[in-house]
Amino acid sequence: MLMLAPLVDAWDREIKSLRVSVTDRCNFRCRYCMPAEGLEWVPREEVLSFEEITRLVCVLAAMGVEEVRLTGGEPLVRRDLPALVEMLSATPGVTDLSLTTNGVLLDRLAGPLVEAGLRRVNVSLDSLSHVRFAEITRREALDKVLRGLEEAERYPELRPIKVNCVAVKGFTEEEVPALAELARRKPYVVRFIEFMPLDADEAWREDEVLTGSEIRAIIEERWPLEEIPAKASSTARRFRFADGAGEIGFVNPVSEPFCSACDRIRLTADGQLRTCLFSRREWDLKTPLREGASDAELERLLRWAVQHKELKHRINEPGFVRASRSMSQIGG
Ligand code: SAM
Repeated sequence: MLMLAPLVDAWDREIKSLRVSVTDRCNFRCRYCMPAEGLEWVPREEVLSFEEITRLVCVLAAMGVEEVRLTGGEPLVRRDLPALVEMLSATPGVTDLSLTTNGVLLDRLAGPLVEAGLRRVNVSLDSLSHVRFAEITRREALDKVLRGLEEAERYPELRPIKVNCVAVKGFTEEEVPALAELARRKPYVVRFIEFMPLDADEAWREDEVLTGSEIRAIIEERWPLEEIPAKASSTARRFRFADGAGEIGFVNPVSEPFCSACDRIRLTADGQLRTCLFSRREWDLKTPLREGASDAELERLLRWAVQHKELKHRINEPGFVRASRSMSQIGG
């Protein structure tokens, strides 16, 4: 494999990780993400093809991007997703290929995805109560998500299985004990993610963020935790239950920003590169791709965009300006 110079930003952070949104469409309507009526979807002809995605990943992998995570919208609503997984898992340099999903189609797709080369999965799950799950997702699909998780569990190649819960104050406190217990009972790493100002309704308020340390305190009333060292670029702080059973993680972008170690960039379903979740600016890759740009031209463009990667997200600073798109349109 031809290796190029590493992809490094103006603050000397080396880019190792790419999140690829394969669609902006979703079959859930989570309250902290999307309005009940959905959003205006990107027209199909604007969505990158599997070949276009793979081409970009090849160029990025030659510059040292090792980790690729497929997301959306809901990635499993994209037709033939296992075919893309197969193409990416065969891409030299891609050593860590994973998927973030709401899990509702995983009961059908876990097998084909593993067969295509998927090795890691994150399933979003905010409540283990049927009523409250439906309240937050606006869909009665808890049993199907749990079946999807069980199906994923059948494949030992697919590890770790992570369960991600967005923590919203006034809602999630009540969910914490059952989700912690899930991490003890099942081979799932349960992680709580702080609510970020990326909701399409723009209803986010700082006082609605339930912080990782608040959740940790709730868990420790019952089960003491011990911190496990995490990789420097990791978004999560990791803990194990002191009695040995299971792992919990906290992703605290609001209360404990981890931008200084950020090694991520994002590709939207319509082929725009974003160098931060909170970017106001995007870099069009679709047009040059479709106009026949060479690999060297794409490389130049990618390096130029990454040179402009934001230092940090500034959520906690006065005058914070929201991102130019919401979470499901970016690819969380
Ligand atoms: N549909 C897939 C899923 O549910 O995992 C992938 C896309 S979804 C946008 C990715 C993750 O972003 C999910 O875990 C979701 O809960 C999270 N998310 C959405 N809106 C968020 C927000 N405003 N703050 C924090 N996390 C959010």
